[in-house]
Amino acid sequence: MKELHTGNLYWPGTLDHTREFEPLRQNKKTQVAIIGGGMSGTICGSVFNGSGLSAIMLERGQVAGGSTSANTGMIQFSNDIMLCDLIEQIGKQDAQAFYRACKDAVNMLEKTAESLSVDVGFRRRSSLYYASTEQDLPKLKKEYEALKACGLDVEFWSPDDIMNHFSFRKSGAIVSHGDAEVNPFQFVNCVANAAADAGLEIHEQTDIVAHDTLPSGLHRLRTADGYEIEAEHVVYAIGYEPEELRGKLIKSELNRSFALVTSVQPTLQSWHDRFLIWETARPYLYMRTTLDGRVVIGGLDEDSEKPLRSEQERAKRSNKLHERLMALFPKLQAPIEFEWSATFGESRDNLPFIGVDPAWKNVYYSLGYGGNGSVYGMIAAQLLRDLIRGDAHPLTDIVKLDRKSLSSV
Ligand SMILES: Cc1cc2nc3c(=O)[nH]c(=O)nc-3n(C[C@H](O)[C@H](O)[C@H](O)COP(=O)(O)OP(=O)(O)OC[C@H]3O[C@@H](n4cnc5c(N)ncnc54)[C@H](O)[C@@H]3O)c2cc1C
Repeated sequence: MKELHTGNLYWPGTLDHTREFEPLRQNKKTQVAIIGGGMSGTICGSVFNGSGLSAIMLERGQVAGGSTSANTGMIQFSNDIMLCDLIEQIGKQDAQAFYRACKDAVNMLEKTAESLSVDVGFRRRSSLYYASTEQDLPKLKKEYEALKACGLDVEFWSPDDIMNHFSFRKSGAIVSHGDAEVNPFQFVNCVANAAADAGLEIHEQTDIVAHDTLPSGLHRLRTADGYEIEAEHVVYAIGYEPEELRGKLIKSELNRSFALVTSVQPTLQSWHDRFLIWETARPYLYMRTTLDGRVVIGGLDEDSEKPLRSEQERAKRSNKLHERLMALFPKLQAPIEFEWSATFGESRDNLPFIGVDPAWKNVYYSLGYGGNGSVYGMIAAQLLRDLIRGDAHPLTDIVKLDRKSLSSV
């Protein structure tokens, strides 16, 4: 099993109790088998189950124990690739359709959170996307025009506007409305619990080690413990472990990233409306607050895919992140309380990998690579449900694994 994160994560400690799902201990038949119980697999499980598909979700470790527990919980319709760049990459119509689908997915995530009996920290937030340098300003203005033309709720803030709301000055920023934050660990655990109560079968500590197709066309999965699952359809929601099984198909880069959470701040008055904040630089810094008054900041991506193990080396990165935070918010007082390093995946054309295996019938992928993994998880669940039912979905050609935009990268 691959190490996806190192350090001291914040989210797992926010949930008093996690339900345990028994490992698979008998052979099974099902309509859909979902491999992976993170954000992507769990949303698929919940959506499939709610749509009348019979499904089993198989997780080799614990639900939400993979990269989901390192996720900083920012839910945004804007992507790592700006809309104006995506228009150049795939054309205006498709790029706008993709951005609007991201916006719809934020709404669906909100509905899902609202349907739970527990508060999982889902709150609507606006985002501040600032120009990291003066040189980035023309591009940011172009992006603002593209977002506005797409019908998204955005404003452009001047340096004075930014100064009037925050303790820092930047040469310009896009403010977008309709984004959100969530506690990803609570969200995924509670969605899994609710889906299990509604009939989704979930097994933890169930490692899928082999997959073949029977003469009947059914798929046969084998667990490390020797049990078999026969399924009509198989969805891989295996996160950043694509070297396994057929995930080799995708064109992606795996890096490592860093994040920290401070202790509870005495006051967050200098943080206007608890905005989500990020910037135009690549890799970018991003930050948010938590419901109990902490600050989360992440970034400083590095080329290695292995999370950094050395505590001392991680401390250097978290001190750097903290310095960057204090440069923006000098009035913050609370020290670093949690810090971690984690593997982070990006696709080469900045779009997620969602769709059928081009060479294996009834095998599908939900691989939401990029900073918007949660939003992609929701898009994937709807899209794959439609494909499994034999229905069309408008994003199919934009995000499929053998799409045009991947052929040149
Ligand atoms: C530092 C950091 C910050 C991030 N911040 C954000 C953010 O603010 N917003 C956002 O939307 N996204 C963010 N992301 C991206 C985030 O990783 C994704 O959003 C999402 O949580 C990934 O979920 P997943 O289900 O695809 O992967 P995972 O959570 O890794 O789940 C995959 C699961 O598959 C299981 N698995 C793999 N192979 C097998 C097998 N053979 N058999 C059984 N089980 C298997 C693994 O054990 C794992 O639990 C961030 C990522 C990192 C690293």
